Amino acid sequence: MERRFQRENLLRRIVEIINNAMEMETILKRIVQEIGLFFQADRCLVCQYDMEGENPSMNPLSEYRRREETQPIRATVYPKRRAEAPTGNFAELTLITRTFQYALPEADPGYRRENHIKSALAVEIHYRGTSYGALILHQAEPRVWEPGEAALLQIIALNIGVAFYQAQLYQQEKSAKLAAEAANHKKSLFLASMSHELRTPLNSIIGYSEMIEQGMTGEITEKQRRFIHNVSLSGRHLLELVNEILDISKIEAGKLNLSIDWVDLRKLLAQLIDVFSELASAKNIVITSHIHQDVLGLEADPGRLKQIFINLISNAIKFNHQDGRVDIEIYPSLDKEWVLCEIRDTGYGIPEDKMPELFSEFYQVDNSYARQQEGTGLGLALTKRLVELHGGTIHVESTVGVGSVFTFQLPAKAAIAAPLLSSV
Ligand code: ADP
Repeated sequence: MERRFQRENLLRRIVEIINNAMEMETILKRIVQEIGLFFQADRCLVCQYDMEGENPSMNPLSEYRRREETQPIRATVYPKRRAEAPTGNFAELTLITRTFQYALPEADPGYRRENHIKSALAVEIHYRGTSYGALILHQAEPRVWEPGEAALLQIIALNIGVAFYQAQLYQQEKSAKLAAEAANHKKSLFLASMSHELRTPLNSIIGYSEMIEQGMTGEITEKQRRFIHNVSLSGRHLLELVNEILDISKIEAGKLNLSIDWVDLRKLLAQLIDVFSELASAKNIVITSHIHQDVLGLEADPGRLKQIFINLISNAIKFNHQDGRVDIEIYPSLDKEWVLCEIRDTGYGIPEDKMPELFSEFYQVDNSYARQQEGTGLGLALTKRLVELHGGTIHVESTVGVGSVFTFQLPAKAAIAAPLLSSV
């Protein structure tokens, strides 16, 4: 009973070590000590066997030694031989190798002599068809291992196998992630340079077609004017797309730097409403804005902040009904740490299941209405990245048929009046 209780205790501690420690090295170091002490062995080893190539080798990964004067085991190369299954019996050595495919170096008299091994018990560490190595006990004196001891060591080895398997999975995931990140970085650098090459010719297409349209190169017919107008419109649309790709890839490549300045939000909103008045009145949409008295302004990149607002407001108009509303509201968070900017519309709304994808590149909610609208599907992806670059976050709430609320929040820093000041 007593022994059984101790066995269960040992297994519980080993499983705990495996579950709680992160590094394989730490796990093995603690496990060999627990096992060595429990079995009162002179040495407890976790080894990795390298069976590839002509000469198999055995590399100790972790080792517990009962006596300080015992020499540590060195990595050993030994001849490739089949294990004498199931049990190898030697004159002064009992070696239990039930599952091993190959002989262990313990079968070699020279190795035994050099390492003072009179008796050894070894089990394979394997899990899900992969052999990771061996768990071995050494005794400097002759010792007869009991079947119960071999069985217990086998269960422990199975648990260690699980730990190896998990570490391997983790490693694979980590390297896959690193490879994906490196590929993504390369893609961003490529896009950044490509976009630059694309912009130069596009600018001349736009410039020259506008000159022709305005009659600066001589008289043109009405039909020619319509055609050249289309050339310049398409050119502009393409330029917008290229610029957005350039911005996104710059952010991804870590090459977009903000130039932070003080932004007067009241001035900015007045400008924006002016810019959008024509587009809004074409659909008879009313735009309103309200800034809480405590919000004085924001520390941000003025051009980029404007871009964030432009993207959100143009969407709020684009995906809105005739005679709809767009309301912009700016206010401080309760703890005054953030400035919140809210853009509400009374438009079509966004279905719940489309929400998770909304801020990814090239995403357009696939309803027939959205499809009719001009767009690149990059606006929101870029907006989110620009907000995050400022240290902020963005989120959306939406009800189909009722409308959407996009809210982004940026760190307030000096943007909110101190309570004393605002009460004056
Ligand atoms: P696009 O260039 O297509 O407007 P965005 O990234 O700005 O690209 O938006 C992605 C998609 O999200 C849009 O195609 C549209 O379907 C949806 N969307 C964005 N804003 C709104 C909004 N205010 N109301 C309804 N749908 C919206």
